Amino acid sequence: MNYDLNNMTPLDLEKFINFLQTLLGDALENKNTISKVVKQETENMECPNCHWDDCIIKSGFTKNKVQRYLCKKCNKKFISTTNTLCYRTKLTFGDWQLFFECMADCLSIRKTAAKMHKNKNTVFAMRQKVLQALSIFRSNVKLSGEIQADEFSIPINFKGMKQSNMPRHSKKRKSASKKVNHKVCVLGAIDETDNQYLEIVGNGEITSKKIEESLGPKIKEGTTLITDCRSAYESFAKEHNLKLEQIKSTTYKNENGYTLSEINGLHSNFFGFISKFKGVSTKHLQGYIDWFVYKKYIDYTVEIINHPREILYYAIKQKSNITIKNIYNATFPFDVDKAYADYH
Ligand SMILES: [Zn+2]
Repeated sequence: MNYDLNNMTPLDLEKFINFLQTLLGDALENKNTISKVVKQETENMECPNCHWDDCIIKSGFTKNKVQRYLCKKCNKKFISTTNTLCYRTKLTFGDWQLFFECMADCLSIRKTAAKMHKNKNTVFAMRQKVLQALSIFRSNVKLSGEIQADEFSIPINFKGMKQSNMPRHSKKRKSASKKVNHKVCVLGAIDETDNQYLEIVGNGEITSKKIEESLGPKIKEGTTLITDCRSAYESFAKEHNLKLEQIKSTTYKNENGYTLSEINGLHSNFFGFISKFKGVSTKHLQGYIDWFVYKKYIDYTVEIINHPREILYYAIKQKSNITIKNIYNATFPFDVDKAYADYH
C-alpha cells in the first residue's frame, strides 16, 4: 500500500480508511487492548501488592497475550489492569466505550443494558465499579482561597432493600418523612477556582464534628469560609483559624458583599441530576454524588463530545479494587437503625 497520503487517489484513500477501520474494529474487541490502554495511561507502574515502582520487570504474557509483570521486591506477578475496574472481566474495550457513552448521557441501568445487549446485573456492576473509581477524584480534591460551604438534606432511600430488613414499618412509607433524622445530610463546598466537593456526612443536622471529619482535611488554614449562620460552621472556622463570612438566611449578600450563590447553584444542579435516576438507594448515593461532581468538572474542562472518552480514560486506570461481593454487600453510610430508632 502507498503511504504517501498527499499523493493518494480517492480510491487509494478509501481503501486506506477501510484498512484502518478494520484495525480499529479489531482493537476494540481484542482481549489485550484494555491492558495496553491502561499501561499507556499509567505514569508510574507500581506493584499492586507492595506499591513499589522501581523494581518491576516484564515477565511473559498471559494466554490472552496480556503483558505480565514481576515485582522483584515482593515477587508477586501482576498485569497493568490488576485492581482496576477491568480486572477479571470478559468485557472488551469496545464494551467499555459504549458503556461510557451511555453514562455520559446519564442513561438508566435498564436503558444501558438494552443498548449494550448485556445483562442488567452486568451493567449494574460496571456502574458501581466506575463510581468507586470516581470516588478517587473526591479524595484528591483540595479547596483554597474563598470557599462557600453549605449542607443539604435528602430523604433516606431504601431502594432494593427487602421489606423485612427495613428499619421501619412500610405503612409509614406513604409520604416522605419530615424528620431531619430520616434524611441524609450532604455537605458541599466550592472554592474560588471552582474546585467542588460534596460528601455524605451522616443523617440529621449538620454538626461541627461532621464538618470537621469531612471538610477538615480538605481546607488549608488562612482561607475564607463563607457559610450561613449555623453555629456548626462557626466552631469549625474557629478551630481551623479560618476567616469566616456568614450570611443570614433573610439576606442574599452580607455586609462585605459575600453570597452563597455558587454553592446553592451546585446543590440545585445536583437535584436536577439525581432526579433523572428515579430514586437512588442511599447505599449508592455517594457514588452518584461523585459522578455528578466529576461530570461538573469535565463540563468546565472538556468539550461535551469528548466526555465519554474523558471519563473512560480517567476511570479505567484507577486502582479501585471493588469486588462483586463488595457491591452486593454495600452498606448505608450511617446507622439507619439508629436513624429510625424513634419508630421502634
Ligand atoms: Zn511488590
